[in-house]
Amino acid sequence: MTHNPLMTLNDSAKIPQIGLGVWQTPNDGAADAVRTAIEAGYRHVDTAAIYENEQGVGDGIRQSGLPRSELFLTTKLWNDRQGYDSALAAFDESLKRLKTDYVDLYLIHWPSPHRGQYVEAWKALARLKEEGRARSIGVSNFAAEHLDRVIAETGVTPALNQIELHPDFQQKALREKHASLGVATESWSPLGQGALLDHPVIAAIAEKHGRSAAQVIIRWHIQSGLIVIPKSVTPSRIAENIQVFDFVLDDSDVAKLADLDSPAARIGPDPITATF
Ligand code: NAD
Repeated sequence: MTHNPLMTLNDSAKIPQIGLGVWQTPNDGAADAVRTAIEAGYRHVDTAAIYENEQGVGDGIRQSGLPRSELFLTTKLWNDRQGYDSALAAFDESLKRLKTDYVDLYLIHWPSPHRGQYVEAWKALARLKEEGRARSIGVSNFAAEHLDRVIAETGVTPALNQIELHPDFQQKALREKHASLGVATESWSPLGQGALLDHPVIAAIAEKHGRSAAQVIIRWHIQSGLIVIPKSVTPSRIAENIQVFDFVLDDSDVAKLADLDSPAARIGPDPITATF
């Protein structure tokens, strides 16, 4: 079986370090992508209510024949359901679409601070964890101030924060904050949504190792201790993206990649100012 190391979260749960991301995978293509990934050795899938493909993801899991207990499944609460009761209802709706009675990880998708509701949503997630229906709970796109606030007001620390992170946007300050809190870091858009694949520095490292640019970038996330969820619907790329455990980036590669970091390289919205 393909190697896919497990990381231990602060609640003792184990998460496979590579997962399949399915944002922008249409519902009618999600089952094929998930089944293909499971056949290639993936044991972790990252979806969200807003991706409108939970149903296809659930179909793919069933079709694969893999016992549910062997798959780590993440979904996320969308912003307009952040009230306490509406978060609980949204969770039930996600489970129904996914055709499962629990998720391994449930995340608040964005803090959406203008709504003033993410602490209420976090209390709902804490209840879901107590009930065992969300085995682990975490957040996504939280800045340091949002993390501090949910912890101060509930005493419950998120297991992880899923944030935009790629070699040219490395989020060093937030990663240090996570380390100080015991929160794991998960990288979204780990390939820079594909834009980084032609970068000359990455291309040169890829050529040196006889690997693809995508494999070099995913290997950088792995060696950086990050959980990583690259997206593809193409079977050969899905397989390629998890074949990253038979080579190692050396110190000079790592130093060159460290130099790519730029605060201007953010692709998505800034979570502090976003108003959706
Ligand atoms: P990504 O960085 O994973 O890039 C995906 C794109 O890269 C694909 O569409 C494909 O064109 C290309 N690609 C993938 N593998 C390749 C390969 N081997 N060779 C060549 N090209 C390849 O982008 P993403 O989808 O934005 O991020 C990954 C996942 O992160 C998402 O699917 C989703 O699950 C999650 N995500 C979460 C948030 C959030 O707010 N929490 C936001 C964005 C994405």
